[in-house]
Amino acid sequence: MLMIANWKMNMTKGEISAFLDCLAGEDRWRVWRDKGVRLVLCPSYPYLEFLGDQCKSRNLPFGIMAQNMCAFEKGAYTGEVSAAMLKDLAVEGVLLGHSERRQYFGETDGTVAEKVTRALSAGLLPVVCFGETRQERESGNCQTVWSRQVGPVWERVQKSREAGIRIPVYWAYEPVWAIGTGQTAGLPEIREVSSHLLKTFGPDCASGLLYGGSVNDESVSGLFEKGTLHGFLVGTAFLDGGNVLRVFDRLFGRP
Ligand code: PEP
Repeated sequence: MLMIANWKMNMTKGEISAFLDCLAGEDRWRVWRDKGVRLVLCPSYPYLEFLGDQCKSRNLPFGIMAQNMCAFEKGAYTGEVSAAMLKDLAVEGVLLGHSERRQYFGETDGTVAEKVTRALSAGLLPVVCFGETRQERESGNCQTVWSRQVGPVWERVQKSREAGIRIPVYWAYEPVWAIGTGQTAGLPEIREVSSHLLKTFGPDCASGLLYGGSVNDESVSGLFEKGTLHGFLVGTAFLDGGNVLRVFDRLFGRP
């Protein structure tokens, strides 16, 4: 199980330290890790290395991923960060295609596919976000939207596999209408996504599905089903260490 915190454009050094202090000091993370559960934190770029050092100094076994990266390899792309730079900072993976990237920064399904190829070649684990808007759900277009967003990426993943790259890919189903709204999809919708991926792209594709969208300690238990979901992507609730512990306690039990 992969439990990912997307901190978005939040969390300064002081806030990161306070967050980690709240989680440090007990051996529960080793117990959860032995059960196959991992917490992965996604800070803004400037804090990737700081966060790694702070986790190490507190003996916290958390993974670290970036929230985005550039589709180009290197060169004259002012303000951008490359896959190789993330790798250089010992980052293990990267969120790609988040709906906020699509909505505010014009990322297309094509750009996301390019980024996934680039991430895989650099040895980064991609977590690819997809999901429909409210309007798309209301007009009955969900499956078409999911296929349009996942299809070009899956093609690239298969090409990478043919070239010998065997890095797993995770898919985060994040309905746009559920992100930061307090509304979540239900298990029937999550099951529909899982079976759509299975039917359209095969079992290999459906084997790394995460859910994101207003997950918190109250909603999480009702959203999880073993075999269907392989983790969660959490924004608002995982800005707070106490909430992280409450969600982990609910799902995996207190060691
Ligand atoms: C997100 O933006 O990836 C997310 C899941 O946010 P929230 O948990 O706040 O809905």
